[in-house]
Amino acid sequence: MFDKILIANRGEIALRILRAAKELGIQTVAVYSTADREAMHVKLADESVCIGPPNARDSYLNVPALLAACEITGADAIHPGYGFLSENARFADICDHHGLTFIGPKAEHIRIMGDKIEAKKTARALGIPCVPGSEGGITEDEEALRVADDIGFPVIVKAAAGGGGRGMKVARTREDLLDALSTARIEAKTAFGDDAVYLEKYLEKPRHIEIQVLGDGRGNAVHLGERDCSLQRRHQKVWEEGPSPALNDAQREEIGETCAAAMRGMQYLGAGTIEFLYEDGKFYFIEMNTRIQVEHPVTEMITGIDLVIEQIRIAAGSPLSIAQEDVRLSGHAIECRINAEHPATFRPSPGRIAYYHPPGGLGVRVDSAVYQGYGIPPNYDSLVGKLIVHGRTRNEALMRLRRALDEFIVDGIDTTLPLFRTLVRNQDMQNGQYDIHWLEKFLATGGMDAP
Ligand code: ADP
Repeated sequence: MFDKILIANRGEIALRILRAAKELGIQTVAVYSTADREAMHVKLADESVCIGPPNARDSYLNVPALLAACEITGADAIHPGYGFLSENARFADICDHHGLTFIGPKAEHIRIMGDKIEAKKTARALGIPCVPGSEGGITEDEEALRVADDIGFPVIVKAAAGGGGRGMKVARTREDLLDALSTARIEAKTAFGDDAVYLEKYLEKPRHIEIQVLGDGRGNAVHLGERDCSLQRRHQKVWEEGPSPALNDAQREEIGETCAAAMRGMQYLGAGTIEFLYEDGKFYFIEMNTRIQVEHPVTEMITGIDLVIEQIRIAAGSPLSIAQEDVRLSGHAIECRINAEHPATFRPSPGRIAYYHPPGGLGVRVDSAVYQGYGIPPNYDSLVGKLIVHGRTRNEALMRLRRALDEFIVDGIDTTLPLFRTLVRNQDMQNGQYDIHWLEKFLATGGMDAP
């Protein structure tokens, strides 16, 4: 096992990793930018090292500074969390060259899944069902038109290097498609430095359902059920829950086993998420995330398995401690991403938290790094914390969510708490009847307007 883990991240996920390391008796090193001097992860870690100025490029993405921090503190492993360097295959290689363990998958798997075109090819070869679309990247307009005519409109143009819901354009006609291709290429080049794009059938009313997997790199792998992340704004997840209100046990078992078998086939190591769109009873692979995800607590609450501890154990070379028959799904969990944003306009609202009271009680979990008096810097994403509830049934989870949201106080900044207070009382949400477009429609039709 490792002696000391350096946490190459900030915010709630840095605390999440700290907690796992502490339980395992492993020393922790926090790194921070000058904007994060007063951050909670710095206070709670055993040691901390300042790695640069506020701009993430110069701090949380600054590889030489991270390596130097490992050198100074004697850390023997790095946990990248999510975002930042978590899906950077080159960084995983560099860690390896420096004798440091990157707590994550093999670099080769990060590389494959980081390129969505390669990812789809690999998924298809491993028996995972995919969205119909181009075989590979599209360079010629003619080819795009041919593929689109073949699979039928509407289609979606996506960036091979895409992420965070960016670089996607929907086209409903042949004219649209030519426009979509040129804008998508330019956007992809600007955002990701790679203008490769591909084409997919655009599904009109799917749900987003993803399967959590764990593999030990020796051909053992399990699936830990699904999370339904259909409640989205601008292709970004807002509310996640598990099990999905749309699946029955047989469907769950089938897609889960397909994913676990694929992971055994590629000897996948670590935690991963295989993302699907789900429509009319069919699953369509869209991508795989080779890291811990923001919404991982949903799975932890219904399985009782600590995913970050598993990541650390696996990275240290332990075989998988769980067999598929040991995985039991129990009850229902819902996660709300509370952001420092206006609840109707979504304008970011960094600033000082004047008063903070997180909810508690049975079945309530808050993963957050903020505290009363803390100033949220404007430099990073706006996640203030995640409220996760668990109940024996979906109804019990909703009941707990309602009262936990009412109890949650964050004064001094705008947060999205009021949005969730409205959502939890909405009939469609209570019935579990929503697809990936539901929230945008709800907002566009004045769902959050003042009465
Ligand atoms: P990113 O890596 O940027 O998150 P994804 O490929 O995971 O991109 O897609 C993010 C979201 O975009 C999906 O959850 C879904 O809402 C939407 N989306 C992606 N592909 C399609 C598609 N073929 N049809 C309809 N919606 C899609």
